[in-house]
Amino acid sequence: MTTPRQGLATRLIHTAEGAQPLAAPLTTPTYETTTFIVDSTADLQAYIEGGTGKYFYSRYENPSLVALEAKLAAAEQGEAAMVFGSGMGAVASTLLGLLSAGDEVICSAAVYGGTFHLLNSFLPRFGVTARFVAMEQLQDPASVMGPKTKLLWFESPINPTLRCVDIARVAAACRTAGLVSVMDNTFGTPYNQQPLTLGVDLVMHSVTKYLNGHSDVTAGAIIGSQALVERLVPSRRLIGAMLDPGAASLVARGLKTLDVRMARHNENALGLARALSGHPGIARVIYPGLPDHPDHAVAVRQMRGFGGMVTIDLAGGFEAAARFFDRVQVFKRATSLGGVESLCGLPVLTSQYGWSDEQLARADVTRGMVRLSVGLESLDDLIADVDQALAI
Ligand code: PLP
Repeated sequence: MTTPRQGLATRLIHTAEGAQPLAAPLTTPTYETTTFIVDSTADLQAYIEGGTGKYFYSRYENPSLVALEAKLAAAEQGEAAMVFGSGMGAVASTLLGLLSAGDEVICSAAVYGGTFHLLNSFLPRFGVTARFVAMEQLQDPASVMGPKTKLLWFESPINPTLRCVDIARVAAACRTAGLVSVMDNTFGTPYNQQPLTLGVDLVMHSVTKYLNGHSDVTAGAIIGSQALVERLVPSRRLIGAMLDPGAASLVARGLKTLDVRMARHNENALGLARALSGHPGIARVIYPGLPDHPDHAVAVRQMRGFGGMVTIDLAGGFEAAARFFDRVQVFKRATSLGGVESLCGLPVLTSQYGWSDEQLARADVTRGMVRLSVGLESLDDLIADVDQALAI
């Protein structure tokens, strides 16, 4: 409260701060505040002892994030969700939250590069090691796990080969083997597949991509049972991979159109993949929605649509891929994916950068691959752009 007798500075700082609105806003306001006022010592003590139910400090929790978490849990049909300042913030906070020195992770050899580097060279410094396995072995973790194996990490469709893992089969095998299963659903999105309903324990997202959808926020999320998500509270707080409240509001807005955006991403990507099939400059058009994709049957079984990512493997190897990359016009030369704008990327210079020939071969990635994130532009313009970029 302020009074006319107080100084100008005091009145300007405190007047109307934290005021309650007279009518309920339609949308969730953005809580751009770093801290929350406690009423009394008793109030503070109750918060510290209970730790829940009230807001205290925005690195711990913030209403804008809680609102977004509720939407994400609803999207994936999970009990609870937790958001982070980036997808990698979610990956790191999850692994550090669930594992201890001496523990081992089984991870798909074909996996997002950041996740691979974290598991391959960063976490071993803290005593957490990883065993990278072929896709087929994911379905039978008992054959590759050791006594210290605690968790299995995979994604589907896989970046950038778009191979699809039989999610229900891997989830069931993990349950039998006593492993926590975590699936990165960034490429699929909850529009196309909901891994928790197929038995996976935790779903991870780079929210930066389709969930936000507008290429203007970097964020991550974990969704699953209340009990498992709660185990990540200390790691998010202590690592500090917290999302900004303003960014959370932008993601919540983007999420409202996920359904209509994904329908169009699916449609454009399938249309482009079909149009490019058989093009003489392309050795392989890789898209789970094409009947010649090695996992087409799995994709049909577990996906509603096949996503917005198309990978083309150019007949002329890296030279041809670089030439294509330099010539696109509607597709923008930029890393990332999942926004309304179509983007074009070279996996060997981004997510698979620095991988040895052997590592690339194990992940079925070639130097001639171009990864296309098919946006929401008119399909005819996208087809024409790829055609002109491939022209001799
Ligand atoms: N998982 C996948 C499949 C990704 O493509 C990415 C980023 O490209 C990440 C995780 C990491 O997410 P972020 O860049 O939001 O940290």
